[in-house]
Amino acid sequence: MTGRVFEIREFTLHDGPGIRTTVFLKGCPLRCAWCHNPEGQSFEKETMRRKDGSSAVCGEDWTDEALAAELLRNADILRQSGGGVTFSGGEPLAQAAFVRAVADRLRAAGIPSALETSGYAPEEDYRAVVSRMDFVYEDLKHHDASAFRRWCGGDLGVVLRNLVWLRGSGVPFAVRVPCIPGVNDSPEDRAAILRLAGSSPTLRGVEFLPYNPAAPAKYPMLGRTFMRMPRMDSGPELARGRRME
Ligand code: SF4
Repeated sequence: MTGRVFEIREFTLHDGPGIRTTVFLKGCPLRCAWCHNPEGQSFEKETMRRKDGSSAVCGEDWTDEALAAELLRNADILRQSGGGVTFSGGEPLAQAAFVRAVADRLRAAGIPSALETSGYAPEEDYRAVVSRMDFVYEDLKHHDASAFRRWCGGDLGVVLRNLVWLRGSGVPFAVRVPCIPGVNDSPEDRAAILRLAGSSPTLRGVEFLPYNPAAPAKYPMLGRTFMRMPRMDSGPELARGRRME
């Protein structure tokens, strides 16, 4: 089986317990206006052109066997630190069968896996992958369906159905909320998001993450324009209530 990856980052510390290797899967069905990994959105390979004239192709195809072997090069360090491998993206569940196959190989070698997901995936894919994970970071980007549609380009109901299942799955998880100025960062928004996150014996916390100010930098490298959020005070004008295409 073959999957497409746009980055493998070793020795990461914030994507789960211990020292980790994070694998970024290429392709995402959503189009969040604030996405700080725009090179992860398209399923196609893309060229990023830097200001200095250099360029790099984003997207490399791996077999599950080859990727697992690459990840297991650091198996001793991952094991000793209580760490493992984290699947991120893009949206890793958009390549669910591939992630399953790699995670199964890692588990057979004693390496646990974690998942960072938008929760935007068919429920059979979501359940098949999540049930193989030792930890899940589940995004909850908005509480309001029309705002989610406008800013992320998807159906919030898909995320919420998967979240309900996750709460009862027995898999430890944290809810992550990217706080976007003027989009979802009011006290009322936070309270509504906390209510939606709900409670579960395996919910380890709700993390409100600050907006990443470096997000716009990659867009020109891909020949694209970053859409500014409401209440951003500097830089090119945008935020007219359209989501980025
Ligand atoms: S779900 Fe994540 S990768 Fe996909 S568009 Fe949104 S922020 Fe970007």
